[in-house]
Amino acid sequence: MWPYYPELLTGNVPRYTSYPTAVEFHEGVGGPELLKALDAIGLDEPISLYVHIPYCQQICWYCGCNTGAASKTQRLTSYLEALEAEIALIAGKLGGRGKVRNIAFGGGSPNAIAPVEFVRLVDRIFTTFSCDRPNISVELDPRIFNPEWAPTLAHCGVSRVSLGVQSFSEDIQRAIGRIQPLEMIKDCMKQLRDVGIDSVNFDLMYGLPGQSIDDLSETLDTAIALQPSRIALFGYAHMPQLFPRQRRIDDTNLPGSSDRFAMAELGYRQLTWAGYKAIGFDHFALPKDSLSRAAAQGSLHRNFQGYTDDDCPTMIGLGASAISNFPAAIIQNEKNPGRYRMLALAAQPTASRGLSRTADDQQRAHFIEKLLCTGNTGPISAPIFKTARTALQIFIDRGLARVESGAIIVENNGLAYSRMIASVLDKYRQLDSKKFSNAV
Ligand code: SF4
Repeated sequence: MWPYYPELLTGNVPRYTSYPTAVEFHEGVGGPELLKALDAIGLDEPISLYVHIPYCQQICWYCGCNTGAASKTQRLTSYLEALEAEIALIAGKLGGRGKVRNIAFGGGSPNAIAPVEFVRLVDRIFTTFSCDRPNISVELDPRIFNPEWAPTLAHCGVSRVSLGVQSFSEDIQRAIGRIQPLEMIKDCMKQLRDVGIDSVNFDLMYGLPGQSIDDLSETLDTAIALQPSRIALFGYAHMPQLFPRQRRIDDTNLPGSSDRFAMAELGYRQLTWAGYKAIGFDHFALPKDSLSRAAAQGSLHRNFQGYTDDDCPTMIGLGASAISNFPAAIIQNEKNPGRYRMLALAAQPTASRGLSRTADDQQRAHFIEKLLCTGNTGPISAPIFKTARTALQIFIDRGLARVESGAIIVENNGLAYSRMIASVLDKYRQLDSKKFSNAV
C-alpha cells in the first residue's frame, strides 16, 4: 500500500513538463529571442518539431487543451495556410541547419484536418527542413478516425500514435461529454495494426465524475486486453476557472482526494501486475516499448508531451500556442489563431511570450527532470541544495525521500509524491496556485 498523507497532497503542483513552467512566461520574451535561439542551432544538431493543430470536431467537457471547434472547413484551411507560412519562415531561418529527428503532431486533434492535408503538411516539413529519418508521432481522436487515416499515417511514415480513450465506462463517457464505444477503439487499433503501426498509446484518466475504483479497474482490464504499447494514466484536473468548458462537469460528483489517491495506486498495481513497466509517476509501457528501454538505460526525458525517449535538446513548436524549448529559452507562439495567422502570413515570427533560462534555471530543470524520470536527482550543487533542504524534510520524516551523497532520492513508496518532492527544487513554486492541478 502506498502511504497516504493528505497534508502533503493539498497544494496544487506543476506537472513539470518544463522548468520553469509556463506560469512564468512573460511578454518580454518573444520573436527576437526565438530568432536568436534558431541562429544558435548547429549544422548537424539534432532537433525535434512539435506541430500543433488546435481544433477538434467535438469538444470534450473535461478538456484543458488549447483547442477550438473545427466546425467550419474554412477555419481549418486558413489555419493550415498560416501553419505552412510559419514552417517556411522557420525552415528558411535555419537554412538547412539542424537535423529533424522527431516530429510530433498534437492538439487538439491532428486528425480533425483531412488526411490529404496531413500528407501535404508532412511533405512541407520534409521539403523545407533538413530531416534525418525522423520518428513521427500523432495524437488521434478515435471518434473521427475514418478508414482513410491508417493508410495515410503509414504512407507518411508515422510510427507511433496516441489515442484519447479516458474511460471505457459508458456512464462516465456521458458525464465527460465524450462518447466512444469500445468497438470504436478496437476497430481503430485493428486498422492501425493492419498497416504496421504497433506503437499505440492510450490516454486514460482517473478522478472523473462518478468514477469508482471498480469503474477504473474495469477500464484498466479492458485496456490491458487490447495491449497498447503505452498507457498514460492522468488524474483529471478540474479547473473551471481556467477552462470554462469544464463547467459542464458535475463537480458534486468528483472523487475526493483519498479516492483519487487510491485510484492512482490501483492503476500502478494493476498495470505493473499485467506486465507494464512504470515510467515515472503516470506512464506505463510494455517492456519492448522504446519508453521502457529508455527508462532502463537512464535516458528517459520529460517534455511538453510528458515522458519521452526524445533526447533532442531543442524542440521547435509550430502552430498557434505551440511551445519551443531551447537550452536557454522557452518560447510560446501566439495562442489566438487569428493573431497567429496575421503574424505568420506577414512572415513575422509568431512567438509572443516565454522566458530566458538562467544558468540556475537550467540546473534546477536538470535535477527536476532526473528526479521525475529516475527518482534520483544525482548530486545537487550546494547553493541549490541549500534552498531545497528545509522543504524536503517533511518528505524525509515520512520515509518518502532521502538524501544520499548530495542527491535527493525518491523512496519506492514515495512515487505518488514525486511532483511534490520535485517542487522543493522549484524556486518559483507557489503551492496554493490555482494554475496547477492536484498533486495526485
Ligand atoms: S479530443 Fe482531445 S483535445 Fe479535443 S476536446 Fe477532446 S480532449 Fe480536448
